[in-house]
Amino acid sequence: MTVFLDPLRTAGRTALDLVYPPCCVLCRGRISHDRMVICDDCRSGLLPIDAPYCERCGQPLDAPVASCPACPGRTFYFDGALSGFQFNRPLQDLIHQLKYRNRPGIGRFLGSLLAKRVEGEPGFPHITAVVPVPLHPLRKRERGYNQSAHIARGISDATGIPVLENVLVRNRNTPTQTSLSPDARMSNVEGVFEAGRVEAVRDATVSLVDDIFTTGATMNSCARVLLKAGAKRVFALTIARA
Ligand SMILES: [Zn+2]
Ligand SMILES: [Zn+2]
Repeated sequence: MTVFLDPLRTAGRTALDLVYPPCCVLCRGRISHDRMVICDDCRSGLLPIDAPYCERCGQPLDAPVASCPACPGRTFYFDGALSGFQFNRPLQDLIHQLKYRNRPGIGRFLGSLLAKRVEGEPGFPHITAVVPVPLHPLRKRERGYNQSAHIARGISDATGIPVLENVLVRNRNTPTQTSLSPDARMSNVEGVFEAGRVEAVRDATVSLVDDIFTTGATMNSCARVLLKAGAKRVFALTIARA
């Protein structure tokens, strides 16, 4: 009987390993817990972004003032933004693997770390729904999954707050934003998102989730659509900021 069971078990384990590899995805060292994707040593290399930060955009500040120099004059549709961790070498490597190396489990792991980091943040009120920033269907097919949806699931694992998928729809595949100025980024994503299941977000306090906050253009565009769809408030949560 074991002869027949073993290949099955191996197949099951292989599938599981894609999601939760048994060794650290950064240094290949042993990991202490099944649901971790990195070892304790590498985990200690992930550094939180500590207060103070800008109440509008989440930019870390040297002194506790209400807003960073860039925010006056900007229109943000989200009520606040917070990024969990400094975008240092180990985190860059993790996010790269999450996006380009078929490691969705990293998203879930980082999402649960982010949830623990944000818990008890005074600027963050009671969130009632977690909404991932959607990928265009073509890009999602290429990648096999939406990394932000996995981060959102990690947040939900840690908090029990439901993830609302298909609430936002990305109707246009935008060119990559990396080389664009902040203004060009804003117009690049204008009209790109639409609300799908409008009734799901009515009166909700939404945590909008993405991997990296850069200028806030994508978050802003999504937040605007969510408010139009009836969400009460929107907060932008990201793993890191670049
Ligand atoms: Zn490691
Ligand atoms: Zn700011």
